[in-house]
Amino acid sequence: MRQWRPASLTGYLMNSVVVNQPVAIPSLQDAQSQRLAARMAELARALAASEGVGDFGRTGWLPDAFFETLAQLYATYDAYIEHNVAASELKILCRFGCTRCCHQAVHGCYAFEIIDLYRQLRPRADFAQLHDALVRSADEFQAMFERYREKSPGRDDLALVNTLQHFSAIAKPCPLLAGNNCSVYAHRPVSCRMYHSLTAPVLCTTVLGRTFHIVPPDEVAAILADLNDRLAFPYSEFLAQGLVVFANARQFRPWGAPLPRA
Ligand code: SF4
Repeated sequence: MRQWRPASLTGYLMNSVVVNQPVAIPSLQDAQSQRLAARMAELARALAASEGVGDFGRTGWLPDAFFETLAQLYATYDAYIEHNVAASELKILCRFGCTRCCHQAVHGCYAFEIIDLYRQLRPRADFAQLHDALVRSADEFQAMFERYREKSPGRDDLALVNTLQHFSAIAKPCPLLAGNNCSVYAHRPVSCRMYHSLTAPVLCTTVLGRTFHIVPPDEVAAILADLNDRLAFPYSEFLAQGLVVFANARQFRPWGAPLPRA
C-alpha cells in the first residue's frame, strides 16, 4: 500500500503557511459566540460517542447518524464564523468563486473528514479519475518534501514549511476543485472553512497578504483531536494523501462494504 510520511503538522494552523499578522476578533467571547461554541462542543461530544467509533479500525464503518451529526457541526461552525466576521466588522475580501486558497496543499484534515469525503466521492462516476489526480498531487507533494528534506537533514519541520510554501507558489489546484467551485463544498474540511483574507486574493500566499483563521474553539478542537486519534487507520492529515491512503486501505470498496480481511 502506498504510504507517505511527511512530518506531522499537528498543532499547525491549517490551509495556509502564510498567516502574516494577527487579526483581532473581539467577538469571539461574546454571548452568541459562546452559545455557538457550546453547541459545537455538544455536537463534537455526540460525534465522539457515536456507535461504531470504537470498532472503526475493525469494521471500517460508521453509521449515517455520525455523518448527520458532522453536517450539523459544520453548519454550526459556519454560523460561528459568519457571526464573528459580522460582529467584529472584518472586511473580508474572500468571494464565492475565488479559489486562491484551493491552490495549495490542503492539510490539517481530521481522519473523520477523510472518511466523510471518501463516502461522498466513492459513488461518483469519475472516482477513478479523481483518485488518479489525488495520487498525482500526493506524489508531487511528497517528492518535493523529500527534496527539501535532503537539503536540511534533521529539520523535517523546515522541509515541510518550505514544501508548503513552494507548493503554494506553484498554485496547483486541489484535485477536488471543479472549475471555480469546490466539488465537495458541503463536506469540505474544517481547514478549508477557517481561512479568510482581508487583502486581495493575489496577495494571499505572499508576505503582503493579510490572512487569518477563525479556528474552532479550544474545547471543540480538543474533542475532535481525541476522536481523530481513536479512528486509527493508515492516515495522512494532507487531503490528497489521506484520501489515497484510505482508498487503498479499503481496496476501493464502496462505503458500507465489509473491509478486506487482515
Ligand atoms: S476541498 Fe474544496 S474548498 Fe477545500 S481546497 Fe479542495 S476544492 Fe477548495
